[in-house]
Amino acid sequence: MKKAGLYIHIPFCLQKCNYCDFFSVRADRFKNILSAALSPFVLRLAEDIKIQADKFSISEWDTVYIGGGTPSLLSPDDLFYLSSQILAAQRNSPKEFTVEINPEDLNKEFLSAAAQGGVNRFSVGIQSLNDEVLRACKRRGERKLSLSALELLRTKKDLILSCDLIAGLNKQTFDILKDDIETLLAFKPEHFSLYALCSNTRVSAEKDDEIAELWSYGKNILEKNSYNKYEVSNFSYKNSYKSIHNEKYWRLEDYIGVGPGAFGSIFFNKEALPASVNADAHEHAYLHSHAHALRFSAIKNIDKWMTAKNRDDVYEYETIDEKEFIEEAFMMGLRLTEGIDRSFFKSRFGKDITVFAGKTISKWLNRKEAVLTEKRFYLTEKGFLYLNLFLQDLFQEIDTLF
Ligand code: SF4
Repeated sequence: MKKAGLYIHIPFCLQKCNYCDFFSVRADRFKNILSAALSPFVLRLAEDIKIQADKFSISEWDTVYIGGGTPSLLSPDDLFYLSSQILAAQRNSPKEFTVEINPEDLNKEFLSAAAQGGVNRFSVGIQSLNDEVLRACKRRGERKLSLSALELLRTKKDLILSCDLIAGLNKQTFDILKDDIETLLAFKPEHFSLYALCSNTRVSAEKDDEIAELWSYGKNILEKNSYNKYEVSNFSYKNSYKSIHNEKYWRLEDYIGVGPGAFGSIFFNKEALPASVNADAHEHAYLHSHAHALRFSAIKNIDKWMTAKNRDDVYEYETIDEKEFIEEAFMMGLRLTEGIDRSFFKSRFGKDITVFAGKTISKWLNRKEAVLTEKRFYLTEKGFLYLNLFLQDLFQEIDTLF
């Protein structure tokens, strides 16, 4: 039996923000599964959580993250039911239990249901406090509603507050971003995520530069106020409130995703692949005698996800072989400011990182754009700007080994 993170995807939104690439559908089309006192959607989620825990022999969710879409569209009763079901099934509470909210949805009932259900961290999708910017990206909400939500959240002690902002939104200026961050600082959030606008829609090189400049400007304000950047887009106050759940993604630790459109990833020795995982994944896995991961995703068809009797029909499994897994360990690990933990890497792949990437690492050490210590390997701030070049070198080197 083992511990893992749990991600729950609530794929409903009231309207689509124009920059958003996440999987979400219009909530009003699914009133039938969302609006009962205890909604069929949440009952189905709770069942899947149990099924997945049994399948992968998980005795404890040590982190839980309810994301979306818009989790704050769940009723307080639904949120309480879902979280209390998770807590009731295990001995210890999760170290971190986050729910994402759109600030305009928050009310006292939702907040108290969350707190009673064991939620200890709120990730608030502010994105911008400027009403004109919000309208320009077709995002619901208003500055005054965001500020009231933050005031309400701050009435609860022991709740970690994380604020999400995006740099590069239409109509956003340097002054607007500065005002947003300074206004939020008054609420003393423990954590910020500052994303550079990124969407599948292509933007001009000029717009790309503008986004990068705005993001750097925001980053500098955060750093001056003691928020340390510990990952590409994430900052924690005095390095003390890093997101434990999100770190699992970057460190390639086990997590299970439940709900339409959710992803999960779990590490296995080949002998340990669960028998109930489909035959193709099994056959593929047994061809490889080394470390591999099993990645899975839930289908994005809500009706099918709700009604399928055999739950294996709605979660697709794929094994990641050792080569791809190693490449991913570098890609994700180097997103972290502290980089890759060498002993953890060795515990996964049986050998030190220098065995797979010795030439590339030497080249980048010579360029003084990377640092290798006994414990870690990371790129310097300048080196990180050339992450893609580093990965190109690395993939070529790894290609020669497999
Ligand atoms: S509310 Fe969030 S998930 Fe929904 S469309 Fe906007 S950014 Fe995307």
